[in-house]
Parts: sequence; C-alpha cells; structure tokens
Amino acid sequence: MTIKAVLFDMGNTLVKYDYGLPEEVFRKVLFSLGISRSLDDMKKAFVNAEKEAEDNKLLESMGKIKRAEFWHQWDSLVMKHLEIAEHEELAKSFTHSKWMEFVDSRLYPEVKEVLLELKRRGLKVGLISNGYEEEIILVLKKANLERTTFDIIVGVDTIKKVKPNPDIFRYAISKLDVKPEETIFVGDNSEVDYKGAENSGIHALLIDRTEKQQSDLRTIKNLKELLSLKLTDFFHKS
Ligand SMILES: [Mg+2]
Repeated sequence: MTIKAVLFDMGNTLVKYDYGLPEEVFRKVLFSLGISRSLDDMKKAFVNAEKEAEDNKLLESMGKIKRAEFWHQWDSLVMKHLEIAEHEELAKSFTHSKWMEFVDSRLYPEVKEVLLELKRRGLKVGLISNGYEEEIILVLKKANLERTTFDIIVGVDTIKKVKPNPDIFRYAISKLDVKPEETIFVGDNSEVDYKGAENSGIHALLIDRTEKQQSDLRTIKNLKELLSLKLTDFFHKS
C-alpha cells in the first residue's frame, strides 16, 4: 500500500490571511460604511451572534443555503448584537465580496513547491475547506495559486456538509478514486481537520508552525516534511 493522495485544508494550512480575527475585518467593513465600533464590542457581538446562530440553526445551514443568504443572515445578526438599528437593511450592502476587499491572503512559502513535487511524484492533491466553493476560488486567486493545481476542491456547498463530517472527506476520496488508507489529510485544526479525517479512516496530520507544538497528535511544522514521509510513519501514533 502506498500513499496516492494528499488533501489539504486551506486557511492557515496553505494560505495565510493578513488578519488575526474575523472581528477585525468586520470592524473595517463597518467603518467603511460609516459605523465605528471598538474591537471589544465586535468580539462581544460575535460571541452573542454565534450563540443565537446556534439556537436558530443558522450555523447548521452553512453550505445548505446559498452563500449570499448565509452571510446576509450572519452579518445581520452580528449587527443586531452591535445594536445597529437598520441591521437587516445594512447587511444587504455588507456582502461577502465587500469582505474580500478587506482581506488579503498569501501562500506559505513552501506551498507551491510541495504541491508541484507531490504532483510530479504522481500523487493526487485536493482541497477541503469549510468555505463556500466561490470563496475558495476567490482566496486562491488572491493567493495566486491556480485552482487547476488541485484534482478536487470541496467546499461546504459541494455536498452540503462541513468538516469534521466524515462524509465530506469520503466524498473527496471517492471522487479521486483512492482509498482512505492511501490518503493523507493535512490541516491546522485538531477537531475539524485532524479528527474529521481520522474518523473517515484517512491518515491525519496536524500542521503547527508555532514553536510550542504541544499536541499529542501527529504533527508537522512545515509542509516540506510531507515530501519525506513514508506510510510506515503513520503506524507509530494512532
Ligand atoms: Mg484551517
């Protein structure tokens, strides 16, 4: 048995964003619309919006409803918790494309080289992200990575499932015609990426570029390490 495919998460795995928190971006977009709020207010509003979005099932609807509709409801909810009077109305001009004007993304330095080398070795490469397909394409474009680099791109709307649901991983490998045990998934989130992949029988790897690396999980610091991994490396830890 050999490894035939390597699948990647996108954010903080292949692509680095130029902001720390989504709250910061939201704040900038609001400011461009003439509304000023502190970062602390933003953080509180996000916490409350998230609670409400869980109760009213908005979070569950991600990928199941259209991208514009999902973000409209989310943006409106955050603005409601910021006590912005015309939040429903304002959320209409607060489209996700507006959001994209305020964020930049770039690839981690080793990404292109690693992806090309994996492909040169005959492996299939894929992307599974908890974003809408349209957003993934926009981010890749900003990061200057050809979408055709990937044999498959899976977003939340592809089969209307989000990570860590094992179905989203299984869908990708069935499309690539590889078995779970022939596949590696690399991501930066231990729950969403690592556990999700592992629950689908795929070999999971955590990428952690920080110095501390305190996880018990099978961890790499740089994607270049993928190039020297052997299948037997996956039998040491489970
Ligand atoms: Mg990520």
